[in-house]
Amino acid sequence: MSKTILVTGGAGYVGSHVCKALAAAGYTPVSFDNLSNGHEWAVKWGPLARGDVLDGNALDDAISTYRPEAVMHFAALIEVGESVKNPGNFYRINVAGTLNVLEAMIRAGVNAFVFSSTCAVHGDVGDVVITEDSPIAPISPYAKTKAVVESILADFSIAHGLNAVALRYFNASGADPDGALGEAHDPESHLIPIACQAALGQRDGMAIFGDDYPTPDGTCVRDYVHVTDLADAHVMAWERLMTRKENTFEVFNLGGGVGASVREVLDAVKVVSGVDFPVEQHPRRAGDAPKLVADIAKARAQLGWKPQRSSLENIVKTAWDWHRVNTR
Ligand code: UDP
Repeated sequence: MSKTILVTGGAGYVGSHVCKALAAAGYTPVSFDNLSNGHEWAVKWGPLARGDVLDGNALDDAISTYRPEAVMHFAALIEVGESVKNPGNFYRINVAGTLNVLEAMIRAGVNAFVFSSTCAVHGDVGDVVITEDSPIAPISPYAKTKAVVESILADFSIAHGLNAVALRYFNASGADPDGALGEAHDPESHLIPIACQAALGQRDGMAIFGDDYPTPDGTCVRDYVHVTDLADAHVMAWERLMTRKENTFEVFNLGGGVGASVREVLDAVKVVSGVDFPVEQHPRRAGDAPKLVADIAKARAQLGWKPQRSSLENIVKTAWDWHRVNTR
């Protein structure tokens, strides 16, 4: 019988791509999702257990019904600007919700956990490449919730024998190469989906937030990593958890390992779409660091992972193909 993995937030962007990768690797993903931000259409590779991470009974029920070997935890609020306005919701769902998940696992004797974390736990690092050991100095409430959960995981591995991995994503982007899944947030705040919407005429144009950063073309530099590469890393992290001798907590950076500026991304969307949509220059967006680029040596060496689909061209092409077909 195939091993079952409970995927909280399995109807969301990264969670749904991970479900597809788990199914392809022979596992059964069970999506635990309240569908507040996720989409029922994105749950295609295993059952949907509809429930909320704030509801401990619903978590107990899902775990006793499906008997998972591990939990992959994506269910969280993610919009940085919203976290500044409404920090309480973020601490409640992202921190208290994660505690609920961990405590339900402990009650049921499940101890393998893969956590969806973020490079934003480092804050503004300046002009350096970020390693797993770079200082933790989150700026936004969103990033603080992720940093707090990482501390909780370290403590739970000591206290309760939790066997956990946190994967710190850089800029998750792109879409399933088969066109089955894509990025659909409402409201949308991410650069590539917004550019695709502008190219499709779904918005009048778009803004570049800041062109006076200390970067080669003055716009922010980010490390874009294809969501399917991220999905593969989750399968590899779980396989590592299954085989390692001690229950412990580890962190891995997941990025493409190269930076692209906002202007370079927009140029790529214009080339792929063939549409020269209007772009305005706006002031800086609060909380944006000039440059965030990953050192991915640890994930390469210890997970055996490599970002195979994360060229900017492929990221933009898969994102564009999905938006073109699914959001008209
Ligand atoms: N950005 C932009 N215009 C937009 C959306 C984003 O210039 O309409 C910039 C943003 O300021 C940042 C980069 O694009 O420098 C990536 O932003 P995104 O929100 O996609 O991801 P983040 O890096 O914030 O996780």
